[in-house]
This record gives sequence, structure tokens and C-alpha cells, in this order.
Amino acid sequence: MQRNDYDVVIAGGGPAGSIAGTYLSRMGFSVCIIEKKEFPREVLCGEFLSREVLDILTDIGLREQFLHLKPNPISSFRFCPDYPRTFSAPLTFIGYGLKRGAFDLLLLHAAQQAGAAVIQPAAVEGIVRIGQGFQVNVTDGTGAKSIRCTHVIAAYGKFNVLDKTIRRDPPHRVSSLNGIKFHVPKHLFVDYPENEIQIFTTDALYCGVNVVNEGTATVCFLEKRSREDLRPRERLADLIRTNRHFRKIVHPDFAAAIESFPIYGTSNIYFGKKSLVENGIMMIGDSAQVIAPLSGDGIGMAMQCGKLAAESIDEGRRKNYRSEELLVRYSQQWHSAFRRRLWTAGIIQSIFMSKNGRRISNTILSSFPKILSSIIEHTRG
Ligand SMILES: Cc1cc2nc3c(=O)[nH]c(=O)nc-3n(C[C@H](O)[C@H](O)[C@H](O)COP(=O)(O)OP(=O)(O)OC[C@H]3O[C@@H](n4cnc5c(N)ncnc54)[C@H](O)[C@@H]3O)c2cc1C
Repeated sequence: MQRNDYDVVIAGGGPAGSIAGTYLSRMGFSVCIIEKKEFPREVLCGEFLSREVLDILTDIGLREQFLHLKPNPISSFRFCPDYPRTFSAPLTFIGYGLKRGAFDLLLLHAAQQAGAAVIQPAAVEGIVRIGQGFQVNVTDGTGAKSIRCTHVIAAYGKFNVLDKTIRRDPPHRVSSLNGIKFHVPKHLFVDYPENEIQIFTTDALYCGVNVVNEGTATVCFLEKRSREDLRPRERLADLIRTNRHFRKIVHPDFAAAIESFPIYGTSNIYFGKKSLVENGIMMIGDSAQVIAPLSGDGIGMAMQCGKLAAESIDEGRRKNYRSEELLVRYSQQWHSAFRRRLWTAGIIQSIFMSKNGRRISNTILSSFPKILSSIIEHTRG
């Protein structure tokens, strides 16, 4: 019979939730991860895995299993604005391209192997404070149930109806940014260097391309909603027209072929500040704050954040902190770990999504191309 009380309940089994679950289980806490979707599932993401992802995988002994999935190694970055020149820089680390379906499944299995219970597919519908602990209300295929716990970690991603249920302040922010991902057979890119991640920009969007596993390339873009309101496939056709570098690498069949590929997308992606703690609930990963994808490394940050949450709960147990003290410590550590790179990533995103910003950055990069390497370093953990 399934138990109904745990030390920690984690809402969401993405990278943040799975890593928190793995560390907490290894520290001896009883943990339950509740994940809404059946895995493997795809999510909106450029699927570029940066340095700190590998650091954490190594730390939890998952490096070999990860490499077994045959992720594509990436060692170079190229910025291709809607101007004649492109700018490239070697990465100071080896990154990897891997589909999120495979990656997130690996992480969730690792949490399970460490001892975390996983209820899936099941949705957290509400979180209620009861005395010193919580009651988490969950629905799955068999109906509704309640789980008691001492700590709740929210790892449910960018935004969620749960933000409203727990009366998060501000409850639900909106933006004019949509994100779209396609998986495309890599032969639809001509002479594309597999070891390179390339970013293409126009007035309306920026788009990342990198090769992942299984002979596939990921094409992922962030677009400003505008009056002409193009559909995702039309947006890519527009990118072919307006960015000569993108036009050069796509096969003549590209525009026709993408008609049949599924679209993974999310609208209203909000990159601003959110609360790190709400009603005693610890927010981690994208639930805490979404980093601008052009320059950031959301998966690595989500995993770091999961580890940080686990360490804070463990420190609270060792030092006998009251719950409020523990949450204050977590917020302080979160700020010192991530504040600088969130700020840098936000500035870079606003430069590359504005016409003047791109014109000025094109001039600066033409004169000082080495700045690119320094920008990459400043947005990595
Ligand atoms: C356009 C774009 C491109 C990006 N590209 C990259 C990239 O190339 N590299 C990179 O490192 N980062 C990238 N990111 C960022 C990255 O995708 C996120 O930072 C990362 O997925 C955050 O992980 P997470 O675990 O916090 O949330 P998620 O990965 O969103 O996981 C949340 C989980 O919670 C589950 N869930 C939701 N609601 C409930 C509920 N009520 N009950 C139970 N479960 C629930 C969901 O099903 C999901 O599995 C990109 C982001 C965008 C917007």
C-alpha cells in the first residue's frame, strides 16, 4: 500500500525536482515526487546541456549512463545576426545536445533509484499548510488523495495553475514572448558543423539550432508576439527569408518538410522576478525564476537549484532551524548563486531582441570579437 506521509513532497519531476529528490533521498529523507506527465515526454527547450549539468551528473554518479544515451558533443558557439557577418567562439567546456525526453527520464529514474517514491502521472492540485507541515492534494488515474509532509518543494516549471491555488504573489504574470521547438532530421541542414550551437536573430525572434541524439537537430526559438502573428512554421519560413545565414544552412526541402513535424510550444514566458518562498513552499528551477535562454543555461540552473534546496533542508535538520530560518537561508543562498547570471542573461536577451541593440552589438563584436567568449562565461555557473 502507498504511504501517505513523507519528509518532503516535490511537485514536478523535471530536472529541478528529480535532482532535489535524488540528493534528499541520499541524505536519508523520505521523499515523494509527483509528476503530472507520463515520461518520456518532450518539453519546450533548446536541448543544449552546459557545463554544470555534467558537473552534477558526475557528482551523483550518472555520467556514464548519460554518455550511454549518445548525446552530441558541442564545443563551439556561433552567433548569426541578420547582418553580413557571423561571430564564433570556442566553448571553454564540452556541452551536449540531448532530447529532453531521454534526459528527464534518466534523472527521474536516478531519483527513484536513490529511494524517492514517484507518483506519475498525477497532478498536485493544492497545497495546504497544516500546523508545522503541509497537506498536498493530488489526483491521479485512481482519484484524489492527500499526502502529509514536513516540507514542500515546488518544481512545477515556468508557470502553473498552482501559482493561483497557493495564492502566489503576483499570481500570474504574462509577457509577449512565445517559445517554440521542432525536432528536425539533421539532413535538413546542409554542411552544418555538428559540434556547434548556432543562434540566429531577426527583429521578431532568436532561434537556436544544435544537433542532438538520434540523427536529429533541435530548432528552438523565442518570438515576440506581434501584429502579423505568424504561426510557428511561417515564422521559420520568415527566418529563411530574413536571415541569410539561416537560409544558407537549410536544405531546399526544409520549409515543406517541417509541415509534418510536431510543435512543442509555450506562450507568455515570463522572465521577471518571482517569489522564492510562498506560504512556506520552496520554489526551485523555473518555478523560482526563468533564465533568458539565449545566454543562460536553464537546465543546469534548475539542477543546481534542486541540489541547493536539498542542502538547505539538510542543513536545517543538522542545525535544528525553525522552518522560517531554513527558508531565509535558502533564499540567501539562491541569490548568491544565481543573481548575477540572471541579470547578465536578461540584459543580453533585451539587447538581442531589439533592433538597435543588435546593430550596436554587431559593431562592438566586429571590433572586439573576443567579447563573445566573456559573455558566454558570465552566464554560466
Ligand atoms: C525557448 C526556451 C529554450 C530553452 N533552451 C534551453 C537550453 O537549450 N538549455 C537549457 O539548459 N535550458 C533551456 N531552457 C530552459 C529550460 O528548459 C528550463 O530552465 C528547465 O526545463 C527548468 O527545469 P524545471 O525542472 O524547473 O522545470 P520543467 O522542466 O518545466 O519541469 C517541470 C515538471 O513539473 C511537472 N508539473 C507541472 N505541473 C505539475 C503539477 N501540478 N503536478 C505535478 N507535476 C507538475 C511538468 O509536467 C514537468 O515535468 C530553455 C527555455 C526556453 C523558454
